[in-house]
Amino acid sequence: MHEMAVAENILALAEEELARLHLSRLEAIRVEYGALAGIVPEALRFGFEAVVKGTAHEGVRLELVCLPLRLRCAFCKTSFGGEGQEALYQPCPGCGEEFGHSVEQGKELILSRIEAS
Ligand SMILES: [Zn+2]
Repeated sequence: MHEMAVAENILALAEEELARLHLSRLEAIRVEYGALAGIVPEALRFGFEAVVKGTAHEGVRLELVCLPLRLRCAFCKTSFGGEGQEALYQPCPGCGEEFGHSVEQGKELILSRIEAS
């Protein structure tokens, strides 16, 4: 995923929300992204600053929240978590199985809050 395209999508979503609320300027937005969403926060921040530059939203505060990975073992159904991508390959704490874990949380990209005026 490329951060510039992600930034454009986020801005488009936020602008839809603004239109719905009859507001015109973004003050702050919060984006939550999963540890496996392929987001590099510095790059997304940079991309977002680039897409709002010269618009009414220039200077908007972007808050980025990384959602930790949550996996479920395919064999014993134990749910367990991890910090980053490497957690995908950790053994299940319930049965020790290393493969076949499904991702319950980690691929999200959510515009969770906007402040606007
Ligand atoms: Zn297990």
